[in-house]
Amino acid sequence: MKKPTIFNIQKFSTHDGPGIRTTIFFKGCPIRCEWCHNPESQVFGPEIMLNKYGKEELIGKDYSIRELVKKIQSDQIFYDQSGGGVTFSGGEVMAQNMDYVVELAQECQRLGITVAIDTCGVAPTENYQRILPYADLFLYDLKFIDSHNHQLYTGAGNQLVLENLRFLSENQAEINLRLILLDEINADEVDAEAIIDWLAKEKIHVNEISLLPYHDFGRDKYERLKRVCTQNFIKPADEKVERLQKVYQDAGYQVTIGG
Ligand code: SF4
Repeated sequence: MKKPTIFNIQKFSTHDGPGIRTTIFFKGCPIRCEWCHNPESQVFGPEIMLNKYGKEELIGKDYSIRELVKKIQSDQIFYDQSGGGVTFSGGEVMAQNMDYVVELAQECQRLGITVAIDTCGVAPTENYQRILPYADLFLYDLKFIDSHNHQLYTGAGNQLVLENLRFLSENQAEINLRLILLDEINADEVDAEAIIDWLAKEKIHVNEISLLPYHDFGRDKYERLKRVCTQNFIKPADEKVERLQKVYQDAGYQVTIGG
């Protein structure tokens, strides 16, 4: 079976779902968000990146399912104590070899380890259908409700993103919606109202909304990959983010900032 490339395994992660988690970062993503702070996650397959001392390093390697399960399982006691588990992230996990991803999730489920899927929504609906029985939670990015902006800033429209979100909701998946906030682009009340209206119209059920204010932490990585940095956005002010939080709360959502 073709093994996907993994570019990071982060243990004791507390930002990628509930409790203490191990996050597996799959390398390769079908879109190109201009604010991406993990540009080394975008290209499928291993690649060279300079480290902080200017030396070339190969980013990404593959693991057998057995090897990966062993790494995940080694922290099971922490998952059990904290309500945590494993998160498959990226890059885009749903655009990888799904035979591998499904088998990995199945194996985690068999061991009693819960699985969260962190996804940008740009993958065939069939892939979501396949993973659904083995996924306990979806951390689902909705970057823009407006397809034109989605196309402009990520290189792809949002039709599939909305379709897959609808599919997951209709099939009773647990969904935490994650909204990137870029000042002067998608971080005004009017943008929040448009998302709220769409969620209501489509009867999308989400457990929680996470507001993710833009940051430019990954800037140096673009240089180290010898790529032009595309991160050129404005972080919304804290007061603005709190105002948006209130807008979503007033619409009945549980809302966290950051994540
Ligand atoms: S979906 Fe995530 S990994 Fe892919 S380009 Fe956007 S921010 Fe980067």
